[in-house]
Amino acid sequence: MHAVSVTCPSCFEEFDVPAPAAQEVPCDVDYDCEVCCRPMRIYFDEDGGEITGNAYGLGAAGVFG
Ligand SMILES: [Zn+2]
Repeated sequence: MHAVSVTCPSCFEEFDVPAPAAQEVPCDVDYDCEVCCRPMRIYFDEDGGEITGNAYGLGAAGVFG
């Protein structure tokens, strides 16, 4: 399983999350921070064959709103 490193928008700690399959991106998922347990959303995309993850807070505007 491929893992993607993301930075929590609440506590700014970095941790790894399992990446979705390449054919499932771009997508936007709900996730709870593994460090502070606050909810966040992670926008997964693909860049040159690499899955990338970008975490943002629930109040922030994401690609999918
Ligand atoms: Zn956190």
